[in-house]
Formats: sequence, structure tokens, C-alpha cells
Amino acid sequence: MILKNIHLGNFRNYESLDLEFHPKLNVFIGRNAQGKTNLLESIYFLALAKSHRTAKDKELIRFKQEEAFVNGSIRTAYSDLPLSISVSSKGKRAKVNHMEVARLSQYIGHLNVVLFAPEDLNIVKGSPQVRRKFINMECGQISKVYLNMLSGYQKVLVQKNNYLKQRNVDQVMIDVLNAQLAEYASLIILKRQQFIRTIEKYASRIHGDISNGNESLAVRYRPNIKFESEDEKSLELEIKSLLDDTLEKEIERGQALTGPHRDDISFYINDFDVQTYGSQGQQRTTALSVKLAELELIHEEIGEYPVLLLDDVLSELDETRQSHLLTSIRNRVQTFVTTTSISDINHTIMDEMQSFSIDDGK
Ligand code: ATP
Ligand code: MG
Repeated sequence: MILKNIHLGNFRNYESLDLEFHPKLNVFIGRNAQGKTNLLESIYFLALAKSHRTAKDKELIRFKQEEAFVNGSIRTAYSDLPLSISVSSKGKRAKVNHMEVARLSQYIGHLNVVLFAPEDLNIVKGSPQVRRKFINMECGQISKVYLNMLSGYQKVLVQKNNYLKQRNVDQVMIDVLNAQLAEYASLIILKRQQFIRTIEKYASRIHGDISNGNESLAVRYRPNIKFESEDEKSLELEIKSLLDDTLEKEIERGQALTGPHRDDISFYINDFDVQTYGSQGQQRTTALSVKLAELELIHEEIGEYPVLLLDDVLSELDETRQSHLLTSIRNRVQTFVTTTSISDINHTIMDEMQSFSIDDGK
């Protein structure tokens, strides 16, 4: 999938902007606060009708203006397609092929993007909660069943915690809830296991590429419940009996102690834990590889690569890693990268790319 061009009107600090893009690699160069991230955000907005950094759409409208819009034309394996999205105080309007759509769900999905922003480093450095959110978002995109099971699990978990907080715990009631939790949990755990194996397959290959074969990345699921079963039904029974075993301790502590709400993932480079022992560059490469694995998942899903948005990733990667990243990726995936200095860009990749200098929204 290729984004051919973009036209912005009153979007963030851009009054009006027209750009034609390179099919492989596009680099946005500019000092701080000139509009590089805003430009990536506009592509993200064109794809998903929302921003990656604010839930308040009106922040996208240029100061003192009424309406912001982004138009762009994409080329897919099948056709060229104009897309258009605008936001004003009256809400959002979206057009596909110049025709306004009634619902945003009819709009989203034409342009697919994967974005890597500096915050994504938290997939490696942050708390288990960040990683669970990452798994839930990714698994949820691929599997509707997963989302249903997760929301079922979370609802029952809240109920169980409420019961455990009461002075006289109703064990019969907890038993009923545990049975429900075990049912949801078994599917959640198996889906996560499957997803993490797929991520590992792709991420380790990408990490190997970027590090020029010097590092081998492993991604390991660390389920809170140590289980042996491989099928849903026997896993459910296994979980149920584990939950029964922990009940006494849970009553003592007044909260649910075991289950997939305490799961985590670990990353290893050449067998050491990246979160604890990894350098900045290794942590960044790991987070990046895991995120780039998403490109392959989407490719598996829809048969086409999305476009890739990379915000501020180059500064912490050395020249070898940078050039491996950008050369290996740009041949498959149209890529948009921001940087504060052209000297960040390795000279060996200067052919087959287009650079844009950004200065105060121009
Ligand atoms: P850095 O290198 O620091 O990440 P950047 O080039 O990515 O910088 P952006 O975040 O794209 O910077 O742009 C920030 C600029 O956009 C700031 O000067 C900010 O004031 C301006 N800006 C943000 N929102 C709006 C808006 N709604 N209207 C006008 N200007 C805006
Ligand atoms: Mg920025």
C-alpha cells in the first residue's frame, strides 16, 4: 500500500501543504517544534480518523481556525483511492472516493498504518501493564473472540474482587465466578501464547536484520498461571483447580491474585533480559522489532503491507542499525521517518528516498 500524496488544510501548525511522496522512503527533517510529528499525525489521522497523541480532535485544528482537513490518495494492489477526513466543532466528516460515508467504520481500514513513536519504548522499559495493553490491542485487532473473552474476564474479575473485599466471603459465589474466570482465561491465555509465538517469529528476524546478525532476540510469554495443557477444555480445568487452591490466600489478601490479569512478556537478547541489562540502543531495537512485527501480521491478515510511520527513532541507533533498518524495510514497506538532522541519515541509503525540510509548518 502506498500513500501517493497528501494535502493538509489548517491541520496543527500547517495552514496549507501539498506533498507528493516517494514510494519507498520519505524523510521529514527539521528542528524541534517545526511540525515533523504533526505531519506523521496527519497521515495517522487520514488512516484512522483519530490522532495517536490526543483524544481531543479539536486540538488538530490550527489555532484560531474552524476546520482542519487531510486529503490523500492511496495506491493499493487493486486501485487508486482518494480519501478525505475533516474535523470541525460539528464533528468529523470522512469521504472515500469523494463520497461521504455515514459511519467512520466504513472509512477506517482503507489506509493501514503502523506507527512507532518514542513512547513505544515502554513496551520494553515500562511496567507489565503497558505490555498487557500492547498484547490486548494487538490480539484484539486480530481476533474479535479475544476481545469478547477479555471484556468478559474483566467484568467477572471486578465482581470477584468486590466479593473478596467483603467481611464474610461467600465461597459458593466465588466458586461460581472462578468457574467463569477459568473459561475466559483459558482462551485468553491460548490466544496470547499463539500471538507471542508469531510476534517472536517475525521480531527475531527483524532484530537480527537491524543488528546485522549480531543479536538474537527471544520473546517469551510469562503467564501468571503456569500451565501445561495445550487445549482449551483441559486448560480450563487446570486453571479452575489452581484458582480453587489460591482461594484461601485471596480471601486473606482481599483480592484476586492469580490469572491472566497478571501476565507479562519478557524480551531476551542473546539470553539476557533486555529490560534489566539492555543498552538504550538494544532496548530501542527490541521495541522497534516487536512493533515492526506488526507489519508482518497485518500483511498476513490483508495480503498487503501498511505504511510505516517512524517518529524519532534514528537518534539512538548507530549507523549500521539505521541503514539496516531503513534499507531492509523500505523495499517492502513505504516508510515515513522524522529526524532533526540530515546527518542522522546514513549516506548509503540516500538514493531511493525523498527528503522534506520542515520549517514552521512549511
Ligand atoms: P520535535 O523535534 O521536538 O519532536 P516536531 O517537529 O515533531 O518537534 P511537532 O510536534 O510536529 O514538532 O510540532 C509542534 C509545533 O506545532 C509546536 O510549535 C506547536 O505549538 C504547534 N502546534 C501544535 N498544535 C497546533 C495547533 N492546533 N495549531 C497551531 N500550531 C500547533
Ligand atoms: Mg516530534
